[in-house]
Amino acid sequence: MACPECDFLHWVNTPPRRGISSCTRCGGLLRSGGHESKDVALALHFAALVLFCLAVAFPVMSLRLHGTVQEASIPGCARILANLGWPWLSAVLITTVILAPLAHLSGMIYVLLQVRWQRSNQWTVWVFRIVEQFGAWGMTEVFVLGIMVSYVKLAKMAVVVPGPSIYALGAFIVVAAAAVSALDNASVWEALGDQPKGSPSNPPRGARTAREANLVACPTCGLLSPLKSTSCARCGTTLNSRKLNSRERTWALLITAILLYLPANLLPVMRVVSLGRVQADTIMGGVFYFLRTGSWPLALIIFIASVVVPILKIIILAYLLISERRGSSHWPEHRARLYRLTEMVGRWSMVDIFVLTLMVALVELGSVANITPGPGSVAFALMVFSTMLAVRCFDPRLVWDSLSLAPRRREEPEHG
Ligand SMILES: [Zn+2]
Ligand SMILES: [Zn+2]
Repeated sequence: MACPECDFLHWVNTPPRRGISSCTRCGGLLRSGGHESKDVALALHFAALVLFCLAVAFPVMSLRLHGTVQEASIPGCARILANLGWPWLSAVLITTVILAPLAHLSGMIYVLLQVRWQRSNQWTVWVFRIVEQFGAWGMTEVFVLGIMVSYVKLAKMAVVVPGPSIYALGAFIVVAAAAVSALDNASVWEALGDQPKGSPSNPPRGARTAREANLVACPTCGLLSPLKSTSCARCGTTLNSRKLNSRERTWALLITAILLYLPANLLPVMRVVSLGRVQADTIMGGVFYFLRTGSWPLALIIFIASVVVPILKIIILAYLLISERRGSSHWPEHRARLYRLTEMVGRWSMVDIFVLTLMVALVELGSVANITPGPGSVAFALMVFSTMLAVRCFDPRLVWDSLSLAPRRREEPEHG
């Protein structure tokens, strides 16, 4: 197989020893999981689905005020937000916290059952292809952090009691992580379709990357095909040796994120109207609020997630693009690690948006005060999404391309 991050060719043991095999050149992940049987992975996915249903069905928090108890579940919060005239906030909550994990889990269970009963067909292949994409947009763990932050904020206004959903969500995160690490996706692909006849078996001598060997790796299932093929014979994904217009798309999204960064941080994210007093809070205002009230760990979390992480991602991606443009061959392992970092931390910036959704919905429910999202929140959510998309549009193999060309040029006179 070819490393998805640097295109370097490898022979990979199946299943990988100690659960993980990584690239010898860039350290990127080649294959993981598979140390348990597919049945264990199936059982864990089932358990995660049950816990997820409990987390959605029960209330997240309840507010006690003037002798009445108001409870809100995750779908309840989404409904309140939609009724209040904030459909985009409601949509973000439904997509990232309910739909993405639900589609991922149920799709995975369907595919694993089809493989187990040996009934897989083209439809199973299509479902597995889509389901893998959904996994990336599920943000349940970020939402749990959002619950913790809004709990501290709400506790100043009313008596707040954590609901059963929080415990189910906590257990869900642990079980879902175990389910992901137990399953080797590549072995599911192998079970779904054999290596088609006529596919390359041995790369030519001296070729180190898939492109040098005149091969192209499928971005979805990893199958190697001849460079001229247009679509993957196993899963049907369109094949390109490198992501199309990667530089231009990444720059476009990055510039959008830079333009949104200022309004996201300067405009108020939240407006609180309480007893006739109006208070507008920016992102930094929220950080200072936690510092003033003595919850410095929360101040630090919000500061890192909302202020540091987005700017860090923008700087790292701009650095990667500029160094690639200049054909730099310096510290490629470093740059590969930086790319992996941006991929990993990006989603945590969404925590402030989840705090906002919970505060607006729960405070409205308890009629403690009136909280409305400010214009800064729209800019902030758009900025987080454009940085996340920019990371996905960037092709990490570009970092290594200038490097693999350098020794080749030296070799050419020998062959000539
Ligand atoms: Zn690699
Ligand atoms: Zn494929």
